[in-house]
Amino acid sequence: MTAKLVDWLRSELNRLEQIAQAAAVADGPVWTHNPDDGWIVEGNDGPVIYDEGSPTGDQAQHIARHDPAAVLRRVAADRHLLDEHPLKQRLAIGPRMKARPVWVCATCGGDVREDPNAYPCLTVRLLAEGYGWEEPQ
Ligand SMILES: [Zn+2]
Repeated sequence: MTAKLVDWLRSELNRLEQIAQAAAVADGPVWTHNPDDGWIVEGNDGPVIYDEGSPTGDQAQHIARHDPAAVLRRVAADRHLLDEHPLKQRLAIGPRMKARPVWVCATCGGDVREDPNAYPCLTVRLLAEGYGWEEPQ
């Protein structure tokens, strides 16, 4: 479960990055929406999305706010956030003052053996949830 969620999240970040890079090839990574043009989303070389009556102005603004450049920024930031929460072994003092190794999130702490939910930590689980991860039933 631990590695499964983190592997899934890394795979999802890679997949979204590849999709955004491919989408940026034709018209560049920055797409804009001019409210005066209604439903047109434009890239470097003209319309990326245009059709009579669709998308609506709100939909066009939403699409432009989630252009390839925005997706690539989020993927890079979230990959960095994930890297800040690695599974790490450290020594803890146990009964009779004996040191024992424990597995923890290097940033958040917690002992995986005592708390199966200690890793992935809440930060990583919430990050994965934002990308559509669902806990297995
Ligand atoms: Zn953490």
